[in-house]
Amino acid sequence: MNVIKNNTAELQAMDRAHFMHPSTHMRQHADGETPSRIINGGKGIYIHDTEGKETLDAFAGLYCVNVGYGRTEIADAIYAQAKELAYYHTYVGHGNEPIIRLSERIIKSAPEGMQRVYYGMSGSDANETNIKLIWYYNNILGRPEKKKIISRWRGYHGSGIMTGSLTGLATFHNAFDLPRSPVLHTTCPHFYWNAEAGETEEQFAKRCADDLEKMILREGPETIAAFIGEPVMGTGGIITPPKGYWEAIQAVLNKYDILLVADEVVTAFGRTGSYFGSQHYGIKPDLITIAKGVSSGYLPLSGVIIGERVWKVLEQGSDKMGPIGHGWTYSAHPVCAAAANANLDIVDGENLTGNSADTGGYFQKLLRETFDNHPLVGEARGVGLMAALEFVADKDKKERFDANLKVGAKVSAACLERGMIARAMPHGDILGFAPPLCITKAEVEKVVDIAKQAVDAVTDELA
Ligand code: PLP
Repeated sequence: MNVIKNNTAELQAMDRAHFMHPSTHMRQHADGETPSRIINGGKGIYIHDTEGKETLDAFAGLYCVNVGYGRTEIADAIYAQAKELAYYHTYVGHGNEPIIRLSERIIKSAPEGMQRVYYGMSGSDANETNIKLIWYYNNILGRPEKKKIISRWRGYHGSGIMTGSLTGLATFHNAFDLPRSPVLHTTCPHFYWNAEAGETEEQFAKRCADDLEKMILREGPETIAAFIGEPVMGTGGIITPPKGYWEAIQAVLNKYDILLVADEVVTAFGRTGSYFGSQHYGIKPDLITIAKGVSSGYLPLSGVIIGERVWKVLEQGSDKMGPIGHGWTYSAHPVCAAAANANLDIVDGENLTGNSADTGGYFQKLLRETFDNHPLVGEARGVGLMAALEFVADKDKKERFDANLKVGAKVSAACLERGMIARAMPHGDILGFAPPLCITKAEVEKVVDIAKQAVDAVTDELA
């Protein structure tokens, strides 16, 4: 399927002339100053492009291709379902077999007390649904003032209007007139940067919870509807929670009758080494956001898993409110559901969650052994098959690099030169890893080896 080289040049010219890319420097791309790469295939943890270059994808696309590339079982399931029934809506009680089976399977594997799944096409739209359901819930309960949502600085929850507001990263706010009310941001639980001298992880976690409580009291608990957080922060820098964090946060939320949304777009379906990140960290959410790993990105699918507390109110509220005025044309799409079922058959059949714990554990150990004493690396962190290296100018004094040096981006580029994709995260000098969950120990060794060569090369360049 490789396209010959001058076809690539033609495609690139057409791309630069007609296609607006997400998260791309538009002028540089249009003028041909930045690379354009056309991907045309993949197998396992590798992708390849129209120029015949093969690259190890240590970020699984955007942490989504959990079963790896080129799984024909999923392609076959998509084909079979598209032939049988390509589309019908699911409004006013209509269903289709793959979505019904998928829903049962998700509820059975989800944390206790989950009742129903509502589907969308992206993590962003699923979080929009969450916020709408939370507002609806409080309106049914006669608490129209209880509407504010608290998220965290450096949290990532999408790039819609509400979800971009929930996201706590400046790049997603600047010049978009975001964040919008009623969204508030509380402390980012990054122990490495935000702990005070001498503070233990538990003390730091308690301080994060105290900050949250102060915010709630300042605003008035009767105005705070929900708290949203990723069990492990993803796009904000792959930040694992400090010990005791979720316990302390949940105690505050329970005290003030505030709902908890676990945004598991990245962590669900095995990435942390547990099926759900909530199970890994003892989180008892009221709502869970899923996307990415549910279909490994073979087709777009997302969902909101609704827990008992919210579901009961929504269900009983129907008699007062009538049919819920919320729906997407493609919600619960049968072909996406067929892809998701085939994907989860692989996740379960090949015990990819177990591999995430086992091979992921090996990956974490290797990263720490290789980088803990490296002069450029302030912190090597992660859990399961998600990890990050944080680069610092001075390790002892914990000093950041001047952002203009773009050290994270340099290391990412050095990885790419050596045949591997590891992502320069949007905030700070951080290199992120989230490989497909089917990665082997030998492949993990290769990832760490390439990362070491790249980090060493950039260290020399900066010297
Ligand atoms: N929530 C989390 C935790 C994410 O990581 C992402 C995307 O990376 C989203 C939500 C938004 O998902 P999407 O890009 O599919 O809208």
